[in-house]
Amino acid sequence: MVTGDASFIKKINRAIIISKIIEHGMISRADLAKITGLNKATISVQAADLLEENLIIETQQEHKNLGRRPIMLSINNQAGFALGIDLDKYSITFTLSNLSGALVHSHSIEMETSEYDLILKLLAEQITFYKEKCSHAPYGLIGVVIGIHGIVNNDETIYFVPYHQWHNKNLKADLKNETGVNIIVENNANLCSFAEIVYKHYHSENLLSVSLYSGIGLGIMVNNKLLKGCDGYAGEIGHMIIVPGGLPCSCGNLGCWEQYASESSFMKQLSAAQNKENVTYEDLRVWFTGQDPVINRLMRDYIKFLAYGLNNIINLYNPEILVINSELLRLYPNALEEIEAKLTSTLGQYRKLMISEFGKNACSMGACALAIKNFLEVKELSFAFEESSK
Ligand SMILES: [Zn+2]
Repeated sequence: MVTGDASFIKKINRAIIISKIIEHGMISRADLAKITGLNKATISVQAADLLEENLIIETQQEHKNLGRRPIMLSINNQAGFALGIDLDKYSITFTLSNLSGALVHSHSIEMETSEYDLILKLLAEQITFYKEKCSHAPYGLIGVVIGIHGIVNNDETIYFVPYHQWHNKNLKADLKNETGVNIIVENNANLCSFAEIVYKHYHSENLLSVSLYSGIGLGIMVNNKLLKGCDGYAGEIGHMIIVPGGLPCSCGNLGCWEQYASESSFMKQLSAAQNKENVTYEDLRVWFTGQDPVINRLMRDYIKFLAYGLNNIINLYNPEILVINSELLRLYPNALEEIEAKLTSTLGQYRKLMISEFGKNACSMGACALAIKNFLEVKELSFAFEESSK
């Protein structure tokens, strides 16, 4: 019993130490002891183990003054690599990150099929390619996480992907069979909110991330935990009805929010109004700069419908931070001011509303981060880009 307890405590301490090393980028043993409250002997033993395992490295800091130069510990970036995959409607994005969450490679493949077997084959080929690419590292490819723009059960099987019309698919098991790699399957909105937490807002415990692309997804972090609901379906906020008897939706209802406030619904309207097929983000940039009257009118309507839904979400969750992930709003000048002007309820409270800096990369960044978190078996993860770039 005593041995079991001791090894359990050792594991917990190890997780805390790794978390703090990642959060600080570089830290001395003495500072680790101070921050974690663990004694110096414990830190010493654990650091020796992590060095032995190639998971951390030591660096002697340059010091202008004479005297002792502390030896700093940091994560061994090159020990292994994480692959994040964003399985979107028309393209699949593959993003490789090192063990500190820094992106080292990213590429997208366009696809015109919804056929499960073809997409499975493509994914398996790419995962095998990345597995080979990372084989030089001590831990190679440490994990693969796939973001699904659809409903994922708590056991990671796919319940439904509307735009591919996939029902009850076990992509996790199928890919494991094909590649021998451990795969995690997760909803894309959850991964976007995870990316915001680990790459940016790690001090917030109550963060919502709304992703507005082909549909609308909501990632919900409450008290530092991802809220998934009984079966894993929580956050299907795009199907909240905001216009009774309104536009028909693929879910079978009328007037769902995503028929009015997703990027694809906006693009459809814009395409019809401007009489131009396949409107690009570059077109948007030009029209916004030129103050095109048609686009200005459509944006006013779009923001009105967007704000209806945001208002409801804010009233439900009272978030500290509400992040909106949208390329359209990233390009639109004054997006935040115009949205906030429509959120006038005296009851709906939030501390901060913002447009995500990560845009379309958020899902695959969150996917890489989740793979790293699982591999290192840590409870908390926050990447130290701000500190290390100073
Ligand atoms: Zn719907």
